[in-house]
Amino acid sequence: MTVLITGGGGFIGSHLVDRLLAETEAEILVLDNFSTGDVANLAHVESDRLEVRTGDVRDAEVVAEAVAEADRIYHLAAAVGVQNVVDNPLKSLQVNLHGTENVLEAASEDGTPTFLASSSEIYGKSESLPFSESDDRVVGPTTVTRWGYTTAKATDEFLALSYHDEYDLPVVIGRYFNIVGPRQTGEYGMVIPTFVEQALSGEPLTVYGDGTQTRSFTHVTDAVTVTHQLLETPAAHGEVFNVGAPQPTAINDLADRVLELTGSESEIVHVPFEEAYSEDFEEPDHREPDVSKLESLLGWAPEADLDRILRDVIEAQADAPVDLEAVR
Ligand code: NAD
Repeated sequence: MTVLITGGGGFIGSHLVDRLLAETEAEILVLDNFSTGDVANLAHVESDRLEVRTGDVRDAEVVAEAVAEADRIYHLAAAVGVQNVVDNPLKSLQVNLHGTENVLEAASEDGTPTFLASSSEIYGKSESLPFSESDDRVVGPTTVTRWGYTTAKATDEFLALSYHDEYDLPVVIGRYFNIVGPRQTGEYGMVIPTFVEQALSGEPLTVYGDGTQTRSFTHVTDAVTVTHQLLETPAAHGEVFNVGAPQPTAINDLADRVLELTGSESEIVHVPFEEAYSEDFEEPDHREPDVSKLESLLGWAPEADLDRILRDVIEAQADAPVDLEAVR
């Protein structure tokens, strides 16, 4: 069996590579243009069951060639990160729209089972917590760039569901909620790697807004477990699932905990969103998944709590073990 992972050189993709190599006999084919991913994410892999191909999902021919070799597809390649999307709006739309259509179109040739990575951004600025899969989406105007990302991901979902309905493509959609862990870069606006890096280097921790906004953080190992299980569960095909830990954390509390666990003397500074991004920038206050659909299908519950997540990220960034007991 050959498994294609688009975006396999990225944060979540590289953890999926590790998992599939460890737990299956599959040959893994990674297709990635290494725009936000990094070859270093796969440098530790010694298996000859891994092939890494540099290519762009916007190129339909390259995609069709890779898909033709695959028995399973995880489509993770996308323009990600709020900062990245705000800085490169057109390219982000093109990657997230054309790239996904290319993958789905090619997959439909042989009916290859496909996982599509979607996002909690789908819910936009909805205040109806916790978010469940059939909730209404609440998004802002097309003049505010950040809403282009959710709109592209929503269109990806429409495309995937249409390929399922009209071509019987076995496709499942996972809406990730703040997946975090080692190898995630802070370069594109991700909060945990940024705070940890700031704390370890003694720089101030920059909390955007007043810090009362909450997010639900999920360890990448938990996300990878679900991702793999969903694709291998035929009852999941044609469906959408929230993938995330349901415990929300306020960003101020997150900053405090990072300081405790690193023993850092860094101060915490608050930066208005308009200063960090732009005048018209909008940021949802709270994001929390309802995971009852996932629980009832897979009996899934996340194993890693916030401290375990932070410990793993700190260890990876500091290259040294963190004694959690010592700081409790
Ligand atoms: P990432 O940036 O580490 O991974 C994305 C990968 O796609 C990178 O390796 C990048 O180089 C590759 N890529 C980008 N454009 C490409 C192109 N045109 N052709 C080929 N490869 C390309 O980010 P991630 O966090 O691992 O995200 C993986 C997926 O999960 C994405 O689809 C993202 O939208 C989704 N997601 C992630 C989160 C999260 O919290 N990490 C939340 C919601 C959704």
